[in-house]
Amino acid sequence: MSRGRPEPRARRSERSRRSVRKITGGSEFAYKAKRDAEAGKTEAGATLMQKAGRNEACPCGSGKKFKRCCLEQVENQERIERLTVERDRLLAERERLEMIRKDQETRFAEASSEFDEIDRRSGAVVELIKAGRVDEAETAARELVAEFPDDTMAMERMGQVYQAKGQPRAASDEYRRAVARMDALGDGHFCDCCRARMVKAIRRLDPDRPAPALGRDPQ
Ligand SMILES: [Zn+2]
Ligand SMILES: [Zn+2]
Repeated sequence: MSRGRPEPRARRSERSRRSVRKITGGSEFAYKAKRDAEAGKTEAGATLMQKAGRNEACPCGSGKKFKRCCLEQVENQERIERLTVERDRLLAERERLEMIRKDQETRFAEASSEFDEIDRRSGAVVELIKAGRVDEAETAARELVAEFPDDTMAMERMGQVYQAKGQPRAASDEYRRAVARMDALGDGHFCDCCRARMVKAIRRLDPDRPAPALGRDPQ
């Protein structure tokens, strides 16, 4: 290439870009390969541009010092690559968090529609007992317990059915199950007043057997 007279700027910079891109395997750029590897880029022959010393001749062959020629372009390219890696990392992170959020939304929607259903059917059991339709109440309560075996509201309705049928001990067994379930779930997963209500019912309905403590945490 001619070094005689200055080339038009546009052409010179285009040639510089090509030359710089062509130079590969520079050891000073090993960190870039490492960074690419860390970022999951294992593409062989990636554009490893050799970085000459600032005051050395520019690798593009212009005859100028590197710092007066392609250095800035090389550094910009590096910056772009670093930012691209960072951007990709953030995009992936955003995607991951978005998936977690959607998953939680779905779970919340499922849990709340399940709660609504239990609440509605549980209310129906209470209404049937009040109306004296105990057999229907029992059927409805048994279905509720079968479908939601861990639900303390369903257990309590079953207990109320037994009370309505004049079976206090069987009723207390249901309340005992509900209290045990609440205690297994721990704080924040049930209402203190509901637990207390059932403990009192156990004491009343089944006085010959020991009842769970009224306070959950005796300490
Ligand atoms: Zn150059
Ligand atoms: Zn309560």
